[in-house]
Amino acid sequence: MALLEANSLTAHYGKSLAIEDVSLQVSEGDVVSIIGANGAGKSTLLRTLMGLKPLSSGEVVFDGEKISGKQTNEIVKRGLILVPEGRRLFPYLSVLSNLRLGASLISDKDEIERTLEDVYRLFPRLEERKNQKAGTLSGGEQQMVAIGRGLMGKPRLLCMDEPSLGLAPIVVEAVGRAIREINEKGVTVLLVEQNVHLALEVAHSCYALQVGKVVLSGDIATMRSSDVVKKAYLGG
Ligand code: ATP
Repeated sequence: MALLEANSLTAHYGKSLAIEDVSLQVSEGDVVSIIGANGAGKSTLLRTLMGLKPLSSGEVVFDGEKISGKQTNEIVKRGLILVPEGRRLFPYLSVLSNLRLGASLISDKDEIERTLEDVYRLFPRLEERKNQKAGTLSGGEQQMVAIGRGLMGKPRLLCMDEPSLGLAPIVVEAVGRAIREINEKGVTVLLVEQNVHLALEVAHSCYALQVGKVVLSGDIATMRSSDVVKKAYLGG
């Protein structure tokens, strides 16, 4: 059974269709990526999974339970957590305060402290800068805070929306290593990326979205050898 199953999701902005009949499956323990150009509907898809954007039709099943139609905090409590595009940090709050906000639905204080230690082990830089205002960090460090904040909520499935956006290639590599490490620690990952190299590097399987529809999906070898992916995303 898949950890996450999206069945025929359709969503609109007003009358305009943003995603149409999108189905996908994420198996427990995997990294699954979603690639596609600007405006393909990737962020909208993640937002529908989180209950942040209403569906026009379709349903989302997480761990065997229908979650579409539920409030976002109910969805987050079940372990489906989003690291949003653009990081959305509180720039005037410290790194530590930003991280703690990710644990706001968790009541066990010891568990929060243990998770914080795990986040610091993954990103030692964040411990060094824990009292610094988040807005004063580099782009890569801010992305680490955003990912760390997501981890503070104890995700079973961590959805990441374009974590590489605006980062230098060497920092993108660090983000890729962090995604692998998070996954090796047992967190399933759904990664939305315009950086197709990163998306194919870290994932076990991948979906390509074009104008709101899934045009191709499969394991990474299948995606790499596909003419659609080569032409549209890998420069030939
Ligand atoms: P990006 O990489 O730019 O984030 P994306 O693949 O995530 O692109 P979406 O942001 O999901 O794409 O957008 C899908 C479609 O929905 C696009 O045509 C976009 O213009 C439209 N859209 C997105 N957000 C809104 C909104 N708030 N109001 C109206 N239309 C929107």
